[in-house]
Amino acid sequence: MKSGMDTWLLSRMQELKDLQGLIGLATWDQETYLPAKAAPARAHQLATLQGLHHERLVDPRLGDALARALSDGAGLSDDARTMAAILHREREREVRVPAALVKALAEAQSHALHAWREARKERRFARFQPALQRLLALRREQADAYGHDGERYDALLEGYEPGMRVSRLTPVLTALREQLIPMVGRLTASAPKAPDLFDGRRYDKDAQWRFTLRLLADMGFDLEAGRQDLSIHPFTGGTHPLDVRLTTHVDESQPLSALFSTIHEAGHGLYEQGFAPELHRTPLAAVPSMGLHESQSRLWENIIGRGRPFWEHYFPILRDDYFPQALAGVSLEDFLAAVNQVRPSLIRIESDEVTYNLHIAVRYELELLLVRDALPLDELPAAWNERMARYLGVTPPDDTQGVLQDIHWAWGELGYFPTYSLGNLYSASLHRAAARDLPDLDGHLRRGELRPLRDWLREHVHQHGFRLPAEERVRRVTGQGLTDTDFLSYLRDKYGALHGLAP
Ligand code: ZN
Repeated sequence: MKSGMDTWLLSRMQELKDLQGLIGLATWDQETYLPAKAAPARAHQLATLQGLHHERLVDPRLGDALARALSDGAGLSDDARTMAAILHREREREVRVPAALVKALAEAQSHALHAWREARKERRFARFQPALQRLLALRREQADAYGHDGERYDALLEGYEPGMRVSRLTPVLTALREQLIPMVGRLTASAPKAPDLFDGRRYDKDAQWRFTLRLLADMGFDLEAGRQDLSIHPFTGGTHPLDVRLTTHVDESQPLSALFSTIHEAGHGLYEQGFAPELHRTPLAAVPSMGLHESQSRLWENIIGRGRPFWEHYFPILRDDYFPQALAGVSLEDFLAAVNQVRPSLIRIESDEVTYNLHIAVRYELELLLVRDALPLDELPAAWNERMARYLGVTPPDDTQGVLQDIHWAWGELGYFPTYSLGNLYSASLHRAAARDLPDLDGHLRRGELRPLRDWLREHVHQHGFRLPAEERVRRVTGQGLTDTDFLSYLRDKYGALHGLAP
């Protein structure tokens, strides 16, 4: 590589990437094929690999080499300088957290996961509360160790959404919430009748699997540089941009699960496969933020995969070639109504693309208070229920269907939830830009041509990896940074047409 970077530093970067790849492999295997009895052994193996990665990253010689590269950066290419800067930031964060705190966090996390599972069985938040209290205290300590300007949450958010700040995020998410609440009311009142496509019908598992592979091929996911397998919770992992592993979940009574999981994960997978070859095995072969990663999965799953042009092509194929019995007599209109129902509900992961962001608003606002130490934990379930009633008009009958439904807080993942809403907002902005550059985008979709969109995303987003922070990348492509305007007008246009409302 003619980057001007010294070969010792480049080798260290490559080693760190290789270790991450192997951690990815062991994790993917753990979630797919690992025999049950091997779980404790795998936990040790992963801890060892993570320990090696940590040692290599905090090595003072690496710190010196990075500091040297950044101080006399004149001889470096732009990419080489960005690589050094990214790794320097990652290393700084790792160095600042004392080993004793890392250990305490790992213990508190496994304790909290156990307590969360027990609490869900008992349907009682109080069972989880002491473990969460401990984990929260440690995460606050960690945020202080990372450093911040008085807003602790920023230091945690930085781990998922580099460059984003509460002061930037809160006004956008609050405005979004205020627009969505009345919109959900209007859409619920005007919803077309959707047939129940899952009333005891059986959708052959093998046919589902074959259809998902067809979609992957049509989307341009390279199955010689990746694969699809089954897991309980679908995810995207892998070891390298040429080894991207997707999973899906096949349910005989509910084919939408496999269908939309595959499209969603393929959106993530295309991003990972799309990094320019010269970035492989460097810190630039990475997505700049979880929100931008999620924008790709949501663009494909919701904007494309639940849209009319896409199904004008695929629905006759799905019905006639894959499920001639289960879908006999079902029309395109029926199917579109069934996959686009807007309905306030209790559970985030079952919610539609309109109400989804209100679920995120509940979580974001509460975790911000928790990290600020501004909400006593014993008031959390009531605060949750009160917001669910105010934003969505529903009240959880118990904590398992309320504050205990997500695993994130038990993992200590505070700062993750808003990235889902960022994904929705960025997806609509990127889609608007794609439609601007590809005037016949809908025509392509109606003919089952998914490659033009993939190629556009690859050119403008994927190939660049971590060259720019997420919002800068979006601004470069769309002319605008984070905004709710594109997402809201996408929803108005789509559901206005589906529900026969005047624009
Ligand atoms: Zn996702």
